[in-house]
Order: sequence, then C-alpha cells, then structure tokens
Amino acid sequence: MLSNNIRKKSFVVLFLMLFMCIFSYKTVYAQSITKDLGVKTNVDVDHSWDVRFNRNVDESKVNKENIKVTDSLGKEVEVKLATQGKIVKITPVNHYKYGETYNINVQNVKSTDKEELSQSVHMKFTVKEDTSKDIKTINDINKTVYKDDKYTLPKTVQVVLNDGSKKSVQVTWNSKSVDTSTVRTHVYSGTVSGYNGKVKLILSVKARSKKAVTICIDPGHGGRDSGAIGYSGTKEKDINLAVAKKLGNTLEERGINVVYTRKSDIDLIPEITPYDDAPDLRKRCDISNECKAKYTISIHCNSYGDHDVNGTETFYFPGSVEGQKLRRAVQKHIVEDLGNVYRVKYDGSHLYIIKHTKYPTILTELGFLSNPEEEKKLNTHSYQTKYANAIAKGVFDVLNMSY
Ligand SMILES: [Zn+2]
Repeated sequence: MLSNNIRKKSFVVLFLMLFMCIFSYKTVYAQSITKDLGVKTNVDVDHSWDVRFNRNVDESKVNKENIKVTDSLGKEVEVKLATQGKIVKITPVNHYKYGETYNINVQNVKSTDKEELSQSVHMKFTVKEDTSKDIKTINDINKTVYKDDKYTLPKTVQVVLNDGSKKSVQVTWNSKSVDTSTVRTHVYSGTVSGYNGKVKLILSVKARSKKAVTICIDPGHGGRDSGAIGYSGTKEKDINLAVAKKLGNTLEERGINVVYTRKSDIDLIPEITPYDDAPDLRKRCDISNECKAKYTISIHCNSYGDHDVNGTETFYFPGSVEGQKLRRAVQKHIVEDLGNVYRVKYDGSHLYIIKHTKYPTILTELGFLSNPEEEKKLNTHSYQTKYANAIAKGVFDVLNMSY
C-alpha cells in the first residue's frame, strides 16, 4: 500500500515551463510537486505553457475538464492542449489580455500506464501590461533663430511610442525664458511624464545677415475697388488688407523688409477718374519691381456663383521655380493650419500682377467670400491671424527660416 502511494505521488506535475517567446526560452521550475506553484508575472499575451509530467501522458485523458485556464473572474479561457510524451502544451486560442491574471488548474490526468495524478496542481500567472503606447524615444530638437528673434520653447514635443507611432506630449523645460541677444548655442533640457530620459533642445542663435530680404505684400483691390462682395456683404478689399498687415508685421518681426503696395483703404490711382483697374495694377507691379522684392505676395479672396464652392488656391507663373516653391509652401500651410480645401489651380499666367512683376510673385485666394462659412471665417480676427501666419510660414520655408 505504501509503495503504491509513493508511486502514485511520483506521477505528478514536475514543473511548468514558460516559453518566454518564440526566440528565447526561460524555464520556471515548480517549488514543490504538491503545493501551489506560485505566481508568474510579466507573461506575454501569446505564451504557451508546458506542463511536464514524469511519465508519458495518456492523450485520451487530457481534455478541458482536467486542464483548465480561468481568468480573474473564474471564467474559462479557450486554450489548445497538445500532448506529446510527458508534456502537455497549453496555448491560448486568442491572446491573453494585458495585465490580466489567470489560473491554470491541472487534475485527474492519467499516464499511459494508468497512474493518476493524486493531487491537483495550480499555477497563477499575470500577463504583462500593454507597453505598446509607452514612450520609446524622444529625438533631440534642433532650432536655429537669428539674433534678437523672439523664440519661445515649445509646449509640446513629438515622441515615438513603442509601437512606432508618434504623438505630441507636453514638455516642461528647465528654463522659462530664451536669450537670443547673443550669437551662441543654448541647450535646454526638458522632462516628459512617463519618460525617464531628458528631452534636449539645441538652439543656435545666428547673426542676421546684413542684407535683409525684401518681400512685397499686395493687398488686392482697395479704395474705389471693393473686389468681391461676400454672401453677407463683406468687402474683399478689407479682408485682403487685414491679412496683409498681419502678415507684414510677422515678417518684419523676423527682420524681413516689407514693402506694401497699399497700407490703407485706397486704390493706387486716385488721380484717375473713373476708376480703372489697368493703371492700378500697373502701379502695384511698379512698386514690386522698384523694391526688387525677392517675392511678391498678392492677397485676395475668391467668389463664385455657387455658394458651396470653397477652398484656397494660389497662383504663380508656370516655369518660375521660386514661384512654384512659395506657392506650394503657402498652400500647404493654409490648408494644414486652417483646414481649408486645397484647390489645385495654379497657373497664374493670366493674372496681371503675376505676369508683369520681374521677380517671383504668387497670388493667393484665401477662400470664397461667396461661401457663407468661409466668409464668416475670413471676417474673424483669429482666422485672419491664422491665414497670415500660414503665409508667413510659407515664406519662412522658402527662406529656410525657422518658425
Ligand atoms: Zn481679388
């Protein structure tokens, strides 16, 4: 009787082996053959467990009744059981849940020579937490500004997550103010919640080149020429001027020399009556040509009989590489920053100011005043600022300036 008992007891689970993953194996041995096998943690969602016996297992006696995996609520989890010799492999049909604790319970398994497991064996395991959305790295940030430029450290930085995706997160810098009064390089250090490393921002303050770039800004229409009239009566000339002035201020802040074709509500040929747009447009071209503007930006708003039509379109002279570059940059930023529809028309060879300026010129139609939504937007100070900033970003892009 005694010897029989010992024989029976010897046919029990010897150890559970954890297959860490496909590439690496880690063996976890049971502490005892009769007691609870303890808790294994940080288990992968698709881990297979090997339940190893000391005798060959009778495959016909291995089933969901005697080998069970249950979750923390006691609910049974669907697993595949594969018997081979002394081993029963337990594999989840679907992945285990991140952070969840499971229980493996083994009982009543028989060996091929009819011995029976005398006591049930348990093991708990906890699946690792989902770290795919944890921050993996934050790249250093390099910025270049010119001496005496205003520069504010960014409130957010882009981070790369473990799953390879990117997102913006808030950052706290070790300094609140930025000194751009001397030509030198500053290194700022930032911290981001959930990330142990530091974020590095390298700011190079460069000397401004002696020869400032000149940009000519042409707010379309003005004075006796209202331009398009909006759905609710907005005059195009007013929007054009408002955005133009905001744009000019932004460019001047960055050391760019700005020349306007008009800075108030006037047309350019008050001496000629009645109003005639041909000499008015000629005068605008003369101003651009005389100041040798590196770029001329003519600002307009569109209008169309169909009130649904909307979006931004920007024209340049086909063949002008510089004009094309600026047109692309301005379109891109307006569409990105304002969410406007990107209108693909670009051939401005029929537009007087594009045709008769010596230096690259673009004409941007910010939006449609005939569209009630866009008219409303174009009348708002905050949107006018957004439009101006988007155009400025386009200018900074082609001048290789930061913003
Ligand atoms: Zn116009």
